[in-house]
Amino acid sequence: MQRIPFDRVNWTTSSFLIGTALMALIGVPIYLIKFGLNGFEFALFAFYVTATMMSITVGYHRLFSHLSFKSGQAVKFFTLVFGACAFENSCLNWASDHRLHHKHVDHDEDPYDISKGFFWAHIGWLLFKLDPEPPMDNVADLRKDKLVMWQHRYVHWIGFSVGVLLPIALCAWWSASHGESPWLGALGGFLIPGVARIVVAQHCTFFINSFCHMLGRQPYSTSHSARDSALMAFFTFGEGYHNYHHEFQHDYRNGVKPWQWDPSKWTIWTLSKLGLVTGLRRVPDGRILLAEMGEARRKAQSQLAELREHPAAHRASDTLHEIVEKLTTNYHELEKAVADRVQLSREALNQWQNETRQLMREFRRTVASA
Ligand SMILES: [Zn+2]
Ligand SMILES: [Zn+2]
Repeated sequence: MQRIPFDRVNWTTSSFLIGTALMALIGVPIYLIKFGLNGFEFALFAFYVTATMMSITVGYHRLFSHLSFKSGQAVKFFTLVFGACAFENSCLNWASDHRLHHKHVDHDEDPYDISKGFFWAHIGWLLFKLDPEPPMDNVADLRKDKLVMWQHRYVHWIGFSVGVLLPIALCAWWSASHGESPWLGALGGFLIPGVARIVVAQHCTFFINSFCHMLGRQPYSTSHSARDSALMAFFTFGEGYHNYHHEFQHDYRNGVKPWQWDPSKWTIWTLSKLGLVTGLRRVPDGRILLAEMGEARRKAQSQLAELREHPAAHRASDTLHEIVEKLTTNYHELEKAVADRVQLSREALNQWQNETRQLMREFRRTVASA
């Protein structure tokens, strides 16, 4: 207990986060056991989880923090209103923290620095006041946006009326029109699409700062802790491909491969086809593959260096050396093509990719038999 810095506790945020979590863990199960769950409450819960999570991932994150596409007023308004319902502070605050996170990832100035451990990155940074408080001098562009500033001013009112009062009113109305007690309906609305949904959406967002810097692979870069994980992508509406995201933060896609689970990317693409958003930013395929090949080569090189320490692995090291040489040649070829802005066909890229995979497989086989 002595280690908790009570003078730095952010009491408002802490009471909210702990209070809602306790209600979701205790109040919600009691309600479900006693009264069950009606279809309307469930549908509203599903709608609110999707709307709030998408407003954070598509709006707060990819649109406002990273400017990865341009948007008309309709999408801005929707994501700002439902973003407020996530109770993760205003978009202006969120984007400022997030831009700091990218700029100083894994270092002291990163507000949710994972090197301070899972708890700090997940929720600790919110329970305690940051020391010193970030100056918010990195969101001048957003300060010029009237809608963003309107949301910044009224964020708690918007969140409370649309995120809590509205589901209470809707569930009370539904119960009354089905011959049930409107008071019981109101309680269900408060607990299920209200509190339980807030807690689920918040922790799924917090996972991006904690687990997405701990679990999964690093195919694009090991210069930071961010990782790609399909499991985390499922819980975070596509943000789990975090290694890619930290490497190419202005790309509107996080799961860049067509098959990767990224509903936020699909939503942005669909909105662009409907003419509601424009200017989707994509990193050219050649540059993405170059990052992958560079990382494969770096991993092979460091493993080879390790193996050379063991005299027993001497015979294998010649073969491994040859593989690393080949990876290096391919890397420099592609690097030159990308620098010269050569138009690379899909087939050419696939060939480079397949060869890299084949070489890495051969490398692993040789290491295993060494
Ligand atoms: Zn991150
Ligand atoms: Zn980001």
